[in-house]
Amino acid sequence: MADASALTVRFWGVRGSIACPSPEYMGFGGNTSCVEIRAGGRLVILDAGTGIRPLGKLLRGEGATEADILFSHTHWDHVNGFPFFAPAFEPDHAFRVFAGHLGEEGGIREAIAGHMHEPMFPVPLDVMKARLSFTDFRAGETLEIGPGVRARTAPLNHPNGATAYRIEHAGRAVCYVTDTEHVPGRPDENVLNLIADADLVIYDSTYTDAELPARGGWGHSTWQEGLRLVRRAGARRLVVFHHDPDHDDETMAAIERELAAESAEGIVAREGMQLEL
Ligand SMILES: [Zn+2]
Ligand SMILES: [Zn+2]
Repeated sequence: MADASALTVRFWGVRGSIACPSPEYMGFGGNTSCVEIRAGGRLVILDAGTGIRPLGKLLRGEGATEADILFSHTHWDHVNGFPFFAPAFEPDHAFRVFAGHLGEEGGIREAIAGHMHEPMFPVPLDVMKARLSFTDFRAGETLEIGPGVRARTAPLNHPNGATAYRIEHAGRAVCYVTDTEHVPGRPDENVLNLIADADLVIYDSTYTDAELPARGGWGHSTWQEGLRLVRRAGARRLVVFHHDPDHDDETMAAIERELAAESAEGIVAREGMQLEL
């Protein structure tokens, strides 16, 4: 971490749709979407699914007081951990929150405040004592995260919208592309442009190609499409992500074997996994 040029990625929640805490999911992990990226001394958190709770504990232990939280969108599996992110309750901490899918619908502050509201939740957003800033942008814009760190963005094909991110630092790039549905046989140009030549592409692989026809319109993609996009875009590695809550460890291990047979560049995300680019 001392290396200023390093870009590290750590997976705190790899599951989609709903957390699955039962034993048959523990090999790959049951928490919902949350990915930590450290780049150029900055801490970037992608989504606040249930995986952000243990990340918050680590940050408190480290004494970290600042981060940028980038939301892909605000479906439950990407926001449910936010009210349990302990550092946000600490004074003298500061978190910048961004979303790119809500421009005309009230914005990210209102969405989070609505989520933390009686009778659905007893602790309102105002109780968080950290300095919180909320920024809505339009997916497609570029965010300057800090010196030498920027996030390019792109809109995704998902009910209620979603935003993909490409975090760039020191000549390296990691992309976070979830949640999104592809049209079979027609690669998504927005995704291809965003992930071009990237070192790592974390991709919505909720389903397999065999499962997709019965799940049309649900807003998700497949690991096979992830592989096709990565190859076409000249990106280096694929991370299979946003695992279906119906895919237990046995199913995920079978997917991992199939992926390994197809490609040496594919990795199935596991909770706790860390990668250095
Ligand atoms: Zn999701
Ligand atoms: Zn979603």
